[in-house]
Amino acid sequence: MSEIACNLSRIRASLPEGVTLVAVSKTHPAEAIREAYDAGQRIFGESRPQELCAKHEALPEGIEWHMIGHLQTNKVRQIVPFVRMIQSVDSARLAETIQREAARCGRTIDILLEIHVAQEETKSGWDVGELKRYLDSAPFRSMPNIRVRGVMGIATNTDDEAVVRRDFGELKRCFDLLRPYFGVHFDTLSMGMSHDYLLAVECGSTMVRVGSSIFGERDYTNEK
Ligand SMILES: *Cc1c(COP(=O)(O)O)cnc(C)c1O
Repeated sequence: MSEIACNLSRIRASLPEGVTLVAVSKTHPAEAIREAYDAGQRIFGESRPQELCAKHEALPEGIEWHMIGHLQTNKVRQIVPFVRMIQSVDSARLAETIQREAARCGRTIDILLEIHVAQEETKSGWDVGELKRYLDSAPFRSMPNIRVRGVMGIATNTDDEAVVRRDFGELKRCFDLLRPYFGVHFDTLSMGMSHDYLLAVECGSTMVRVGSSIFGERDYTNEK
């Protein structure tokens, strides 16, 4: 078995039934994704539109691509024709742009609302109060090409488990708070990465985004 296949089977074995694994393949080459695909993985997450498009073209149609990184509105058009889910919807303007572009190509796009809970100011995402005020004006009723499936978030990057647990608890509370706005399709709480996904699952995660534990450390040295 390849190392990637080995990692995947170990991680799958550690996840309870009902938790979806997104293999985060950003910065890794198409061959690595192909290995994971051959080991049965179908859902992959990427953070950059251009990289996502190139990989979509090079790899099998059966892959479900998730956009998980910060998305600029002027890049939406590139990915909307094929992307399965956009997890990083962090503004009204972005949601409206996705609606418009999805309508143009006759698709409905699943999205997650990214909520800011980490202590780092640099991370993106809605402030939950601001999001709630936005939702009270029922904006998604006029966005028929968007299906809001849940919430995504990133915990503070720290070894202090109490802080990470508090962040995940906060995301779970947001998920429960927002659910009544959306109904039965609102079923996804995306939280947990390589170093904290087991804790995330304990706190109620239904979707984990795991990169380096599957593909190895990322090499950013070739980046501009
Ligand atoms: C890179 C990334 C991940 C995966 O991180 P690992 O620590 O490699 O598992 C998960 N979620 C988001 C939003 C990311 O950008």
